[in-house]
Amino acid sequence: MDEKPSSANGDALNAARKIMAGELNILDWFRNLPKVCVVEPREGMATVICRGLGANVTAFKTEAGLLVCDSGSLDSAPLVHQALREWEPHQPVHTIILTHGHFDHVNGVKLYMDEADRLGRPRPQLIAHENTVARFSRYTETAAHNERINRRQYSRSQFAWPTEYPHPDVLVRDKLDISVGGVRFTIHHGRGETDDHLWIWKPVGKTIIASDFVIWASPNAGNPQKVQRYAAEWALALRKMLEQQPEVVVGGHGPILNGRDVVEPYLSDTAAWLQSLHQQTTDLLNSGAKLDEIVHRVKPPAALKDRPYLQPNYDDPEFVVRNIVRLAGGWWDGNPANLKPARDADLAAEICHLAGGAQVLAARAQALAAQGQFRLAGHLAEYAVLAGGGRAAHAVRAMVNLARMKLEPSQMAKGIFRDAGEESQKASQAPTTS
Ligand SMILES: [Zn+2]
Repeated sequence: MDEKPSSANGDALNAARKIMAGELNILDWFRNLPKVCVVEPREGMATVICRGLGANVTAFKTEAGLLVCDSGSLDSAPLVHQALREWEPHQPVHTIILTHGHFDHVNGVKLYMDEADRLGRPRPQLIAHENTVARFSRYTETAAHNERINRRQYSRSQFAWPTEYPHPDVLVRDKLDISVGGVRFTIHHGRGETDDHLWIWKPVGKTIIASDFVIWASPNAGNPQKVQRYAAEWALALRKMLEQQPEVVVGGHGPILNGRDVVEPYLSDTAAWLQSLHQQTTDLLNSGAKLDEIVHRVKPPAALKDRPYLQPNYDDPEFVVRNIVRLAGGWWDGNPANLKPARDADLAAEICHLAGGAQVLAARAQALAAQGQFRLAGHLAEYAVLAGGGRAAHAVRAMVNLARMKLEPSQMAKGIFRDAGEESQKASQAPTTS
């Protein structure tokens, strides 16, 4: 049976094409989404797209029940579950595939298990990559740390980190062919945003569930607060997807790619973007360059600068370069002073002493910021505070970091600068002890 595109959701299925033609802005598209939106790219297939912190969830009907890819975040999962049940009220859920262990993809599994228990049905089988199990143990062991870094990353002071994770029944290593109710799927492993990423190929309908290999922003292979990511392998996974000649690609976030005219440029440009950063970084490493030089010299390819799906709205290419270096060697940056450095506060005190006091540094930070030299201003403001510059130094540190927060395009940089800025804003208003 060949599956035909459904006609009822033309607008939703055309969003990618409009964005890629420059007729619709991707950030406006995200902002104007309803809380949940169900799209049917093919007969017997539905994707639930959510506004906010929750990944796309896709379900396929089969004669044995539904196969569901991902399950949403703690926030989005109940809405996703309800939307899927409105789309298909009766079929049991036979299988859930977790495309990777990130919180916005895995935290709705319990709803489907509870539903099966309530109706006296067998629980869905849960499929994940074998590295997902170790990821979940790390998440439990470092729960408080993860809560803090995610609050900072997403600028959400109330963000609650989940402490309970599901237990997969079937673990994938490189590749797994499955058939559910007579419908065949091939599950592929590839490293990219995580070491446990899966993407799913369904030959009938030529459909790929690409998960976070496709996120409608420049690839987040750099995240400064999270574990290692894999730029070059991310590109390889995209190239492997292209070999299948898919017609529908559903990313982890954002609109569906419906049609080869949008699938091809999206996947091949993103692969080329990643491969360029990887190659430039590797060439510089081989030439003996240190991290400092590499970080400031490597740039994304100019030819892809205007692609609406490669804008650094979430991560920053500079951070991706750091992760490419981190993967190729150790943590040392090539500067001997940084091998066994002095305490930050001791170095700050010494620099303040040489400069003539913390207030001199704070004033210079302010002047540099006024000239738009925020990188330098950031260092000097930090030294001024670390050396005991008190409320006045905190006021400058707050100003510098909040200005940087506004200037940076990426959510990850914004989150870190906002956190530092707000910390100093509070400290600059606190009663002084000196
Ligand atoms: Zn995601």
